[in-house]
Amino acid sequence: MESLEADILVVGAGAAGLSVALHAAPRRVLLLAPEGPDATATSLAKGGIAAPIGRGDSVALHSADTLKAADHSASETAIATIVSAAGGAIDFLRESGLRFDGATDAPHLHLEAGHSIARILHADGDRTGAAIQRALWARARESAHVTIRRDLEAVDLITGSDGVAGALALRADGSAVAIRAAETVLATGGIGQLFAATTNPGHATGHGLAIAVAHGAAVAGLEFVQFHPTALRCDSDPLPLLTEALRGAGARLVADGRPFMAALDPRGDLAPRDVVARAVWSEQSAGRDVALDATEIFRSGAGAEFPGAHAACIAHRIDPARTPIPVTCAAHYHMGGIVIDASGHTSVPGLWAVGEVAHTGLHGANRLASNSLLEAIVVGSAAGRALAAGRRRDRPVATRSAVPAPFDARQSEWRRLREILWGAMGPVRRDPGLADALAQLQRLESMLAPAQRTLALRIALARSMIGAARARRESRGAHWRADYPNRDRRRDGADAVGIMGAH
Ligand SMILES: Cc1cc2nc3c(=O)[nH]c(=O)nc-3n(C[C@H](O)[C@H](O)[C@H](O)COP(=O)(O)OP(=O)(O)OC[C@H]3O[C@@H](n4cnc5c(N)ncnc54)[C@H](O)[C@@H]3O)c2cc1C
Repeated sequence: MESLEADILVVGAGAAGLSVALHAAPRRVLLLAPEGPDATATSLAKGGIAAPIGRGDSVALHSADTLKAADHSASETAIATIVSAAGGAIDFLRESGLRFDGATDAPHLHLEAGHSIARILHADGDRTGAAIQRALWARARESAHVTIRRDLEAVDLITGSDGVAGALALRADGSAVAIRAAETVLATGGIGQLFAATTNPGHATGHGLAIAVAHGAAVAGLEFVQFHPTALRCDSDPLPLLTEALRGAGARLVADGRPFMAALDPRGDLAPRDVVARAVWSEQSAGRDVALDATEIFRSGAGAEFPGAHAACIAHRIDPARTPIPVTCAAHYHMGGIVIDASGHTSVPGLWAVGEVAHTGLHGANRLASNSLLEAIVVGSAAGRALAAGRRRDRPVATRSAVPAPFDARQSEWRRLREILWGAMGPVRRDPGLADALAQLQRLESMLAPAQRTLALRIALARSMIGAARARRESRGAHWRADYPNRDRRRDGADAVGIMGAH
């Protein structure tokens, strides 16, 4: 087996992994970026990045909005630490060549649901994430201390005498590479691909989280998955996201042609994301055809403000000026993950985590829109600085690990896993469905060959997520239990582990 050595191995090259790599100089970084910069959730982010930099805004106000969205389960320490570093994150992006929309000293600030004041920065209109990804990627490519490998995907961690000693990676042809590293950083993004319907890119399989779980890292909030209410229902994977601003501009959700939100919530189509996602799910479960009627918007010419949504419809042969757009809710963001401290340390020596794969406690049970890019950059940068300044750890002596077969996303068991999770762990959950899903996963697992370790790890993660959802006999944030529809107030604040909890 080929082997590589690295001072610092960063697994994943979205906003979080790139922020680590850029701040870790002068230490040498090996950065894994399978399929390059565009295969990230970062490059899909359309809304923007939140920062309390406008007149009348403050860290206290942004923190209060974040805490409210989190439904009594965020870590106030995490919120204060991350929100107060937002200005520095914006400066870092500017130094990396990003131009925010508006004047340099007065960027345009936009309002989004859940924010009490306009504080969302855009770059290149509704392509903010792609602009961030391009800027950080270009800077990493120019940095002598960073080596980027697009051909390697991590399949497991290598452990040694003193914790994690690197990672085992595969090339597309199945050949294995053992990467020995003094420090290993997981920056592998979210878990959306574990669900049959998702807005997340192909690499967001939860694999980084799965290997951390398998190696005993402390995790939290695994049951907290945010669902987007309006993804375009089509045969693409991931599903294109239809921005919620369409409903803000007057588009209406209809089921079998009839509007349904006004009867469910006084805020109608403008109810919070999780309320609308549950309503869409319920209509779909009842066999009704759910669509977003935006015909007026696209007929009147106001559709020019939604070029992304228009392009996605046309690509799927839908004319949104003539017909309502077929939609589904879809897995969108994971609030749970590997528990880390303010610098990305996990509970396992030699292992770090940043970005969506990690759990700082910022989001609690529900993420406030546009806080995730902020978190990825703030905590990624802090981890990079800590790695640059920290005591050099000797590379632990690695033990041998078995090489799994290359993963084939077309295999029937993977599709089955995604269907099972979507059915039981979607926006509406009930104990009988969760128990049945666990039993099905156990059966699936028992049929796997030893070489299917990659799938086995993901099934184990799915089981942990279901276990967490069963144990939480209440509804909180994005976790809705139809059999326990109320929040258990005795648990308020009890989930505020994270940034200061691990160390
Ligand atoms: C459609 C969409 C719109 C969004 N809009 C917004 C928004 O407007 N504002 C906001 O704040 N957030 C938004 N989010 C969420 C936000 O984009 C993500 O939370 C954030 O980009 C995560 O950054 P990350 O660096 O942790 O992960 P990613 O950007 O997903 O990067 C993960 C990296 O890890 C790599 N990887 C994964 N597995 C492996 C492996 N096994 N081996 C090697 N590499 C691996 C991937 O290839 C990729 O390079 C949106 C998400 C989506 C899907």
